[in-house]
Amino acid sequence: MILSGKKAAGGVATGRIYVHNINFLIPVEHFTGVGEEQSHLDRYLSVKEEAQQELDRIIANIQKEDPDKALIFIAHKEIVDDIIINEEIPSKIMKEHLSGDWAIYHVYDTFLAALRKTSDSHIAERAVDFDDVRAMLLRLWNGKKNEGLSSLQESVIIAAGELLPTDTANMDKNKVLAVITEKGGITSHTAIIAKSFGIPAVFGVEGLLDIVKQGQFAIVDADEGKVILDPDVDTTVEYNKKQEIFLKNRKENEKWLYKKGQTSCGVKIDIGLNIANTDAELEAADFADYAGLFRTEFLFMGRNDLPEEDEQFDVYRKVLECFDGRPVMLRTLDIGGDKKLSSLEFEQEENPFLGNRALRFCFGHPDIFRTQIRAALRASVYGNLWLMFPMVTSLEDIKKAKIFIDEARKDLKKKKAPFGEIKIGIMIEVPSIALIADKAAFEVDFASIGSNDLCQYLCAADRMNSTVEDYYQSYHPAMFSLLSGIVSSFSKAGKPVSICGELGCDEKAVPALIGLGFRKFSMGYATVASVKKAISSVSLEKCEEIAGKVLGCATASEIKEIFASS
Ligand code: PEP
Ligand code: MG
Repeated sequence: MILSGKKAAGGVATGRIYVHNINFLIPVEHFTGVGEEQSHLDRYLSVKEEAQQELDRIIANIQKEDPDKALIFIAHKEIVDDIIINEEIPSKIMKEHLSGDWAIYHVYDTFLAALRKTSDSHIAERAVDFDDVRAMLLRLWNGKKNEGLSSLQESVIIAAGELLPTDTANMDKNKVLAVITEKGGITSHTAIIAKSFGIPAVFGVEGLLDIVKQGQFAIVDADEGKVILDPDVDTTVEYNKKQEIFLKNRKENEKWLYKKGQTSCGVKIDIGLNIANTDAELEAADFADYAGLFRTEFLFMGRNDLPEEDEQFDVYRKVLECFDGRPVMLRTLDIGGDKKLSSLEFEQEENPFLGNRALRFCFGHPDIFRTQIRAALRASVYGNLWLMFPMVTSLEDIKKAKIFIDEARKDLKKKKAPFGEIKIGIMIEVPSIALIADKAAFEVDFASIGSNDLCQYLCAADRMNSTVEDYYQSYHPAMFSLLSGIVSSFSKAGKPVSICGELGCDEKAVPALIGLGFRKFSMGYATVASVKKAISSVSLEKCEEIAGKVLGCATASEIKEIFASS
């Protein structure tokens, strides 16, 4: 059987399917039928028992290697057994006739609300544990086993409804052969991470979870957006060959890693690396002229607490030292949208990508923002720090963010903590700032274009939603017209501008972007070699000719044709 979806990250993989079910469903408020109370109570007691057993297994597995982490699960066991909770839930079921799942949800909710209100930060932090335990109980109520991706037993193809960035960030990358999902846009953060690790990914496979089975053998041909279930012998042989060619090409391309980025006529193009702070990414630092996007939010994700200033300082310092004097564009916390933190409560928003995201979130959480800026400033002593703010929409945003930097500097001076000179920049990923790039250029030292978000906001198409993928047109003529305006504004002001979104590693689009005036492109490690190779085969004259044609186009398909024929 062949399933189709969209290529989110290229490549071919063969292996067994691992079905990953995430997130419990929030139960709807409902009551037990007459006389059903006892069976709901019994089911709650058995779910509770299962939870204890699952926690015992986790504790036994990690006790030796990570005793601190084990303590978290020991605390979870205590919550499962909490006396008051275990009076409340049975009473809600037996006396108020609430269904078991709704009683769990509701009772834990009351506790969570009380914990979150307290001013004692240690007590408030416990809310995360209550939240985790509730999710676990509701998952078990729905008959689902634990499917954490950080401790996979063998190499597998992950099949999921949707993967969140936290899942991807936490998963054991060496054991993931490929990822296939029902939902998720091809420029979602999950897709970007998969791509940066060279993991083939196919998104938007309709009805996937109703079709695939745990352990089923499959071939993922991400280049073609195909998933072949239970392939016959001939197909398997054919794909084994394809995989061999894929790996051979990858090896051959690797020699381009060591070369400089330059056009066939010798124009230097800076190639940057997008990183989320993993050692594997940092190993690739030698192949890049700069780090064009350091996604610091991954340091905050997948954990129950916030990283303290010293911990952040250590990480930023490590990255800066690794780039050894080359610029590191450190992006301040870009949370919200599809990226959430377990350590903080996020308000439910109708449109999270248009909501309290990135810089807006930081303005609303000044302590978190200040701590991060202080850590970055302190680390700047060890390298060449270019600090940048995500999701800037106006000059007021820039001015306000700069005040935070000034305050952080004052704080550090008071504490006699050393800090270095830095450059201050912005991400251009919202049309409102893109359209006044000429004014913004005077307020900052540099800019980096987040083409992924820029495209979603420009085309009004959610990057996470595969249903509207056809509307998410990164080749839309409006994109190129906007990009042309940005690069000319920044060039006039004599300030550098880079592209760190996925368009910047699109081999077909890069010549046109060079023709528009861009000289800096930052990308995940997996595309560095192929982009360098593509650039080396075109002259600046050719790039300018392509750019001229692109600017004259009226539709994305015309632009696509130009790229195909160039
Ligand atoms: C972008 O929006 O293009 C970008 C680089 O940031 P992110 O993908 O992390 O939102
Ligand atoms: Mg962005």
